[in-house]
Amino acid sequence: MGKLLSLIIGKEEKPVQAIPLEHAALCINCETVFDMTERACPVCCSEVYLNVGIAFGDEETRSRIRQLAVTA
Ligand SMILES: [Zn+2]
Repeated sequence: MGKLLSLIIGKEEKPVQAIPLEHAALCINCETVFDMTERACPVCCSEVYLNVGIAFGDEETRSRIRQLAVTA
């Protein structure tokens, strides 16, 4: 999809840096947003973070996050 879109609009493909809300974490230490499947902040290695999806997601997103927490 990304490659096809790049061909259509004639731009070089760049890696997409997008984090789904249910995987988004905000590091409390250095205020970096990262994918929480990394388990720790990739910048400062802190494991103390705010779950952004719980804070800002709708009820459906929160429900999916709780489900992920149960199965993890
Ligand atoms: Zn950090």
